[in-house]
Amino acid sequence: MTLSNGRQYLAIPGPSVVPDRVLRAMHRASPNIYTGDLHEMTYGLLPDLKQVAGTAGDVAIYMGNGHAAWEASLNNILQEGDQVLVPVTGRFAIGWANVARALGAEPVLVDFGMSAAADPAKIEDALRSDKAHKIKAVLAVHTDTSTSVRNDMAAIRAAIDAAGHPALLMADCICSMGCDRFEMDAFGADVAITASQKGLMTPPGLAFVWFNEAAAAARETADRTTPYWDWKPRVRPPGFADMFFGTAPTHHLYGLREALTMIHEEGLENVWARHATLARAVWAAVDAWSEGGEMRLNLANPAERSHAVTSIRMAEGDGDRLRAWTETEAGVTLGVGLGREPASAYFRIGHMGHVNAQMVLAVLGTIDAGLKALDIPHGRGGVEAAATVIAGK
Ligand SMILES: *Cc1c(COP(=O)(O)O)cnc(C)c1O
Repeated sequence: MTLSNGRQYLAIPGPSVVPDRVLRAMHRASPNIYTGDLHEMTYGLLPDLKQVAGTAGDVAIYMGNGHAAWEASLNNILQEGDQVLVPVTGRFAIGWANVARALGAEPVLVDFGMSAAADPAKIEDALRSDKAHKIKAVLAVHTDTSTSVRNDMAAIRAAIDAAGHPALLMADCICSMGCDRFEMDAFGADVAITASQKGLMTPPGLAFVWFNEAAAAARETADRTTPYWDWKPRVRPPGFADMFFGTAPTHHLYGLREALTMIHEEGLENVWARHATLARAVWAAVDAWSEGGEMRLNLANPAERSHAVTSIRMAEGDGDRLRAWTETEAGVTLGVGLGREPASAYFRIGHMGHVNAQMVLAVLGTIDAGLKALDIPHGRGGVEAAATVIAGK
């Protein structure tokens, strides 16, 4: 006998749950790529994408994942001899830094550990000591999915300005876009990137790069740009095919159209508020469980926690045991411990995108059952604490 038969729930931090509406929008015959509805529909995505990122700048769409967005953004900015300053609060910052290195730039890493947000004062110091202004950009991950650290992007912009440094602020919003409040222009980011499969609720396959005039100016002196990644023809396409440097990702675009419509219908403020409340429910449960065992939220400070993903530490081995139990015995797949040692002590809950109260309560109830089934010591009342948050009490 197993209790896992029924609808499986993938509660990992991306790919996230794809709404049935998005799947239905993608379920169609191949459209004509040379003329017709596809063109109008695709051009119509652009204002909505700019609204989701909070910018009056441009947006380029690529066929690719988040790694593609990393490369696309740097490909249009970097010049021989550039440095990039990278605040490290998890493994994804290091991944982006490695792409910069592969493109010939020298990453300057500032390490903030794996359980705290970046300290803007240290970023300011690092920029002040760069008298020759070799640092072209600060590569800042808004929410690092491996640790669930959320960095304060507006404060990082303020640090750049306080140092009087011309560096661009480039924001990895792959985990945060459509989950945590991010307003590119208001926060002072020059470039923002994301991918389709997290807060944007569309299958993996689309990458996005937004950029403002300062970044567009940097593009004019960049010497790493290659045809596929060049953002210029993508944002001012002479013809539709130039927008994707070849065949458009037809079905993904229809799926994205539906996802953006859903975000618009709910309202971006409400989308952010939903994520914030569901995240607080998760934190409340873990705090209750941690009263009687080794389970802990990775982030002590709520202001530094993502609203899209939560990283949780347990005793060594227990993260793996718990994940195996919830998946095979109850039909819920939790995220692996990523970039932390020992990985078997960690797991992550994705609560991003098409997620509502009952889904979060189900995941937390399943974890509670797993803790009991595996005799992992834990405090009582985790689900009760989450329900209290959901109830608004
Ligand atoms: C998921 C993620 C990435 C990597 O995206 P892929 O689509 O897996 O290439 C990079 N940065 C952050 C913050 C992410 O959450």
